[in-house]
Amino acid sequence: MQLQGKVAIVTGGASGIGKDIAIGLSKAGAAVAIADINLAAAQAVAAELEAAGGKAMGVAIDVTDEAAVEAGTQQVVDAYGSIDILISNAGIQVVAPIHEFAYADWKKVMAIHVDGAFLTTKAALKHMYKDDRGGIVIYTGSVHSHLASPLKSAYVTAKHGLLGLNRVLAKEGAPHNVRSHVVCPGFVRTPLVDKQIPEQAASLGISEAEVISKVMLGNTVDGEFTTLQDVTDTVLFLATFPSAAFTGQSFVVSHGWYMH
Ligand code: NAD
Repeated sequence: MQLQGKVAIVTGGASGIGKDIAIGLSKAGAAVAIADINLAAAQAVAAELEAAGGKAMGVAIDVTDEAAVEAGTQQVVDAYGSIDILISNAGIQVVAPIHEFAYADWKKVMAIHVDGAFLTTKAALKHMYKDDRGGIVIYTGSVHSHLASPLKSAYVTAKHGLLGLNRVLAKEGAPHNVRSHVVCPGFVRTPLVDKQIPEQAASLGISEAEVISKVMLGNTVDGEFTTLQDVTDTVLFLATFPSAAFTGQSFVVSHGWYMH
């Protein structure tokens, strides 16, 4: 229960990686706000956490909407007192080659990943900077924060962008006791990835099995998907680390797909 008394917001916490991180934070004792565009799903996750003995709430937040982010963050502060941990995780994927990539899709991917990270960080910092009480912001990046793959121009650009925001926050936040990191998973079996398998097979003209074995896992050291637990364990390690020895870092959790 290392996070007893701490308050966390997890964006995109209603599904996949965000949901698993929310469960992990809750088990570690934090009060957890599941912030998602899908309020019903967020409330369902919060109910699961409460049923397991945790303290949790669902909050409707579209991370691209400044007013919604401000209001949702305030709702959490009103309920739980402040914010100690922000997990900026909400994300989507759109795959297409650049010459066919719809500008509307480009803007949507950039808005959710980059604008969403900025807006949720800005809203959380207002509370973390108060009396320099501090906190930690963890962005869900990706191996695609460091590497490129065909068909993912907007996603790769957005995920690279998070490294920059993270490093600026590490510097600006330090005097206020705020730390910041990007956790960069390889492929994790979530709805976001399951949707891509047939799409990539069609775009690349290969079978779904080949998308998995070659495109997704071909460069890992063990041919294994990254697991939800791999990612959550990394987040918990960073969220409970006792000093600012680590800040502004990128932690790649990818079974050796990308090493730096
Ligand atoms: P997911 O589709 O399972 O969950 C994404 C969640 O984000 C959903 O609950 C969705 O409702 C929410 N969301 C979408 N748009 C939103 C918005 N505008 N405002 C608030 N919430 C919104 O996806 P996932 O695989 O769990 O992905 C979570 C994060 O992890 C994303 O940032 C993704 O890029 C990143 N990631 C995923 C993988 C992977 O292999 N699954 C790998 C590396 C990084």
